[in-house]
Amino acid sequence: SNISHELRTPLNAILGYSQLFAGNAELPPRFRSGMRTIQRAGEHLLMLINDILDLSKIEVGRMELDPGRFPLAIFLRELVDLIMLRAREKKIDFRFEPDQGLPAVIETDELRLRQVLLNLLSNAVKFTDSGYCCLRVSARDGAGQSIRLDFVVEDTGPGISPEIQEEIFQPFYQVKGEPLHQVEGTGLGLAISRRLVRLMGGRLTLISPVFTDEEKGISYGSRFTVQLEVAAFAEGVLPAREHRSDNPALSHRQGGRGLVLVVDDIESNRRILRDTLESLGYTTCEAVDGGEVEEACTRYGPDLVMMDLRMPGVDGFEAAARLRRRPEFSGIPIVAVTAFMTGGEDLRERCLREGFNGFLGKPFSPEQLVSVLDTLSGPGQGSDCPDDARTACPPVEELEKLLVHVRAGDVDTLRKEIDRIAAARPGQYSSFMDRLRALVEEMRMMAIENLLISGCERGGEREEKTT
Ligand code: ADP
Repeated sequence: SNISHELRTPLNAILGYSQLFAGNAELPPRFRSGMRTIQRAGEHLLMLINDILDLSKIEVGRMELDPGRFPLAIFLRELVDLIMLRAREKKIDFRFEPDQGLPAVIETDELRLRQVLLNLLSNAVKFTDSGYCCLRVSARDGAGQSIRLDFVVEDTGPGISPEIQEEIFQPFYQVKGEPLHQVEGTGLGLAISRRLVRLMGGRLTLISPVFTDEEKGISYGSRFTVQLEVAAFAEGVLPAREHRSDNPALSHRQGGRGLVLVVDDIESNRRILRDTLESLGYTTCEAVDGGEVEEACTRYGPDLVMMDLRMPGVDGFEAAARLRRRPEFSGIPIVAVTAFMTGGEDLRERCLREGFNGFLGKPFSPEQLVSVLDTLSGPGQGSDCPDDARTACPPVEELEKLLVHVRAGDVDTLRKEIDRIAAARPGQYSSFMDRLRALVEEMRMMAIENLLISGCERGGEREEKTT
């Protein structure tokens, strides 16, 4: 777990920045394509790290399962939605065939079961170029209270010849040579999957070929089956899902961008989170230690806190608990940002129990960040408050002038103009101007532009009200 954290932290910076720049239309195409290569290599490295850590944990007997009860239908639906997208991209058919008599709730390690099925389904889609992939799920009575579930993943791909049907479950085995097989992957997926299923008390088996075309004289297709015995329950054993609509809104879509406090002891982590948030139009401020969080909330009045969990001194859990004890801060949503994805206990659950409102794994993509922010948004609760000192900013005409200098990259004139505006109305818009100056000193042009644009939107609003 420690190694994983050490490896993920630098990767977080590499992946985050390459993602950010790969999508930046201002960069020349060859730089963007270079960025995409860095990004792909980083993603591959991340996959390898995750797989190798999983495999070594299993090999030394340190992999601990974390069984829990969850609704089977929702679990399957989420899985199918994900795979359906990939199948659609490849223009192959995806079929989902759940049996009638499936239990409502089952008890097993949800994360690990998802990992195994995702691996089988991803392979099915990856290696199939025409025809279909299919997930079939059926149940039959098991021993005592339990039920036996069969998850069958079938495809009309090339199939796997009998000679190598055991070898593909060995670590790092990949069929080489044929152009068809030159696809991305670590060669660890099946090795891990079979070991995980065994650990869960089940079996992972393979039949191939599945189909024969007599006319052409060829056989094809693979069928992987996961057999698992699990405890099954009727509906009603689960607590209702948490209702989160009472959180203050943070709607990046409606231009009501909020102020986000980023808390992390590692500079590169703070920077990537800030840059990504700012590229989405948020304004940010930061704290470098859990112990600084209360003071930062008093000083900046953020709409949201994004907090690293592991920090020296006051860690994320303690910092969140402190905020929750202060009535004036108890309503601020807090998102846990962590590179620890596999705790013995389900970390996500723990975070939600201990006062966090959302959870983001590192490294994250801008899309994942947006989707976490989306879960915090409620309708019609804009965080813009015209009386708030935070939103006080110079008139729109001034901001627009500044924008021209930013876009021209003319930092000298920008500095002079900021000084001129500040001198004309001493003490006014001080926190906006401080933030602007700080960004100019750090040469964070994209963030400056966002701050000015959000200022224009706010200023425009106020003028309409007063005239
Ligand atoms: P990876 O997919 O990362 O290469 P896996 O351990 O998941 O690693 O798979 C090992 C090898 O087994 C693959 O490289 C591929 O050659 C073969 N394989 C797995 N699933 C299928 C499938 N559905 N159809 C054909 N070949 C498969």
